[in-house]
Amino acid sequence: MKAMVLERPGEQLRLMELPMPEPAAGQILVKVRACAVCRTDLHVVDGELTEPKLPIVPGHEIIGEVVRTGRGVDRFREGERVGIPWLGYTCGRCRYCASGAENLCDAARFTGYQIDGGYAEYAVADARYCFPIHGDYADHEAAPLLCAGLIGYRSLRMAGDAERLGIYGFGAAAHIVAQVARHQGRKVYAFTRAGDDAAQAFARELGAVWAGASEESPPEELDGAIIFAPVGSLIPAALRAVRKGGVVVAGGIHMSDIPSFPYRILWGERVVRSVANLTRRDAEEFLALAPKVPVRTETELFPLAEANEALDRLRTGRLRGAAVLIPG
Ligand SMILES: [Zn+2]
Ligand SMILES: [Zn+2]
Repeated sequence: MKAMVLERPGEQLRLMELPMPEPAAGQILVKVRACAVCRTDLHVVDGELTEPKLPIVPGHEIIGEVVRTGRGVDRFREGERVGIPWLGYTCGRCRYCASGAENLCDAARFTGYQIDGGYAEYAVADARYCFPIHGDYADHEAAPLLCAGLIGYRSLRMAGDAERLGIYGFGAAAHIVAQVARHQGRKVYAFTRAGDDAAQAFARELGAVWAGASEESPPEELDGAIIFAPVGSLIPAALRAVRKGGVVVAGGIHMSDIPSFPYRILWGERVVRSVANLTRRDAEEFLALAPKVPVRTETELFPLAEANEALDRLRTGRLRGAAVLIPG
């Protein structure tokens, strides 16, 4: 099968011919129909996430069709459409797994990081961490739901009941979260790089009541904020924009260093927190909710062999919505 492979961080992915993977007991073999490109893939490729299996096939927003099931799999049948997300394995025994926080599992393994992912024609996955994909979504429309959607949804939940919600960085995750937030009756304030008129217009199209540059003060005090852009200086910026008791959620896996800031902008019981990974419960809840909103995803399609181009467009902010790779 064809796959785009990272051999060493900091290098380009290479198109390679790999042997077809075999589903072991408990696994499914999936023919990849679409795989969305996540900012986390960039952090893996650029070496900011330091524990990849190498070589690795990136990609953890996979929509595909089950072509074979390993021994003991009764969750899926051949021909069924499934989604494969970032969380690929947990131990089931550590204190985090035992307390409903499998996203923090000490021995967790992740798709496209420690487990070969979806930048390929086929992938194998532990069936317990895969999900049926219902609804009238085309494959490429469903793919961004698997991480931008799931982790965006977890971030939104962590922002509590904030009615006036700031979103910093208006890419794939934000464009999904904005729709869910609006559906829940919240008001979205979108923050982008200064001068990114296209992203600000995109946010307004998706119902943001205000869109401006990250350095700007919003017209009203916010009740909470989510930061998707990997930029540490947005933490103090968001703290300055939220009211007393408000939560600032960092939704990404990597961020540049956070500059020091005066205690008074945290004072007043403001909270800064991160969101790490996802639980299977997040996935079940969000995948059931998405068709009801209904969440619509904006995608730009790339052939599998152009994964480097898709990553570069994400790196430089030249995408509307999510990039999605289409094999074959
Ligand atoms: Zn565990
Ligand atoms: Zn992701």
